[in-house]
Amino acid sequence: MSLKRVLIVNKSFPLAGLELLKNKVEAVVLPHLDYEPESLPTIKKNLKGIDGLIWNTKHKLTGELLDLAGPQLKSVTTMASGIDHIDVPELKKRGIPLGNTPQVLDDAVADITVGLLIAAARRFKEGVQELEAGEWKYGVQWMVGQDIAGSTVGIVGFGGIGQAVLRRLRGFDVARFIYSGRTDKPQAKTLGAERVPVEQLLKESDYVILACPLSKETKHMINADSLKTMKKTAVVVNIGRGELIDQEALYTALKEKQIFAAGLDVVTPEPIGKDHPLVSLPNCYIIPHMGSATVETRNKMASISAKNVLLGLEGKPMLFPC
Ligand code: NAP
Repeated sequence: MSLKRVLIVNKSFPLAGLELLKNKVEAVVLPHLDYEPESLPTIKKNLKGIDGLIWNTKHKLTGELLDLAGPQLKSVTTMASGIDHIDVPELKKRGIPLGNTPQVLDDAVADITVGLLIAAARRFKEGVQELEAGEWKYGVQWMVGQDIAGSTVGIVGFGGIGQAVLRRLRGFDVARFIYSGRTDKPQAKTLGAERVPVEQLLKESDYVILACPLSKETKHMINADSLKTMKKTAVVVNIGRGELIDQEALYTALKEKQIFAAGLDVVTPEPIGKDHPLVSLPNCYIIPHMGSATVETRNKMASISAKNVLLGLEGKPMLFPC
């Protein structure tokens, strides 16, 4: 009997995942990275007749692509926690199970979040820029930033990553942790965090950390109006998705010093051009979506997506069903 076919749409899939698929399915890895122009056309050409799909790409998985695959497609997984790039209703309509890879990336993304928070609050970008320009001018008022000790930290989206961020920041003598979201989290009590409406969180936080999914509800939650309600000393850190922020409004707020700084792992678009206005700002510290980028974490994400897709093909529940 011939093996079922699993398509892996981006060539950067770690060996750790491929090993798990070996001899169980016929795994086809496409030869491109997302930003290569041939990437999406090659995906489209190779979808027909596949049984399983590892969607390890930022391209959107649409109904049109599912139609190209055909009705035998029985199992789909991302290699990510966020599923905003997947047309979930289209999969549901076709009865195709979907998995993702949360939890294993919480530590790596939380580390990056704390890194961004410190970098933005303590003006790493500006400091390095001045040093590299030969303009290191010591003075007691030069490059002064914001403290973490004694601050209020607000976490929007108190899931796996949000809670891991709190656990790390506990060592920084934060005065108060608050979070916002659709439901109360039972872990909040032990972690010492209080749930408040998002409007209150934005008003009272020294650090606003965006760690929620992108949805109709959360798109542009940081906008011209909400930025006006924030403290002048506030720092915004976004590890969720770029579209949580209206970037034009953020640019204005940072330029006019309505807020102190931003640290962004995610932006719109990705990759962002080097001439983008946000990139030019000394108080906007951007890194290129590196949240889960550690060797160990990427291996774990690949292993889980391999296990998800195999379980789906066997008609069993995936490790992380969406
Ligand atoms: P998670 O464990 O599912 O947590 C997400 C949390 O967001 C949930 O607790 C959810 O709780 C909350 N949420 C949902 N809708 C919300 C809303 N409207 N307002 C506030 N909170 C809301 O997911 P995770 O693994 O922590 O990941 C969170 C997001 O981070 C992902 O969706 C993804 O976009 C992003 N991410 C980025 C990276 C990176 O490399 N930068 C890596 C992984 C994930 P309630 O529904 O109960 O409110």
